[in-house]
Amino acid sequence: MPYRNWLLTALFITCLLAPAAAARRPRGDERNVFKSYYTPEYLAFKKLIVGEFEKAAAGKFSEFVKYRRKDEDKSMDQKALVLTFDACGGRHSGYNAPLIEYLRRERIPATLFVTGVWIEKNRETFAALSADPLFEIENHGLMHRLCSTEGKTKYGVRGTRDLGDVVDEMELGARKITELTGRRPVFFRSATAYTDELSLKVARRLGMEVVSYDVLSGDAMKASGKKMARNILNGARHGAVVIMHFNHPEWPDLQALEEAVPELRKRGYNFIKLRDFSPEQVK
Ligand SMILES: [Zn+2]
Repeated sequence: MPYRNWLLTALFITCLLAPAAAARRPRGDERNVFKSYYTPEYLAFKKLIVGEFEKAAAGKFSEFVKYRRKDEDKSMDQKALVLTFDACGGRHSGYNAPLIEYLRRERIPATLFVTGVWIEKNRETFAALSADPLFEIENHGLMHRLCSTEGKTKYGVRGTRDLGDVVDEMELGARKITELTGRRPVFFRSATAYTDELSLKVARRLGMEVVSYDVLSGDAMKASGKKMARNILNGARHGAVVIMHFNHPEWPDLQALEEAVPELRKRGYNFIKLRDFSPEQVK
């Protein structure tokens, strides 16, 4: 084959293969940040998991794909509320220190869903939070990608493209937390809380339960502190999971709690971590 023809053929094949190869790898800077996680051992494990689920249907896509707690609403004399706070990441990698200080001061236990990208930008803060027994650290994904096995998305948030990406998001997020805390997360919340039923099965296979929420505080919808407090008070019931954020210091989550917590306590509520509802999950 003349050299020129050979060169053109080689170029043509490269163009054909490049998009397929790129589709298997995480994009941009993230590839460099998390490169060390894509070990031969991990890639073999991922291949195994993808193989187990690749023929399964994606199922319903919604924000309420979640597990049912066994003891939900059984003991009506109890009044416990689960406050959960997400730290998303990317452009939104701030830290609401006054909010966390308030939880500490008031001795309010909370569940924190944290992404790998947020941890990267807040290493010292993350170390302090995970060392504090008041808080439970759970998995909000490696790169804050909405988990859909079909590449669906919501609110313009970047989603996973396929099943393999879902495994990356869940498993590598879990490994990152485990590596730094010595404790593997048992709960997973997808970015935006939207996900599909197949992702829930994948999470279970990886030893995690998908968690959505029962009470939308409204912080991500730009609600005022007063409105957020009202949403929490109106939605409060035994075992309800409240969703808030601690990566946006400019949002009024603290003001909402300062207003809602005294009233909730007056109504007899106490606050517990998500694991306290599911003792069988604790390892
Ligand atoms: Zn998030």
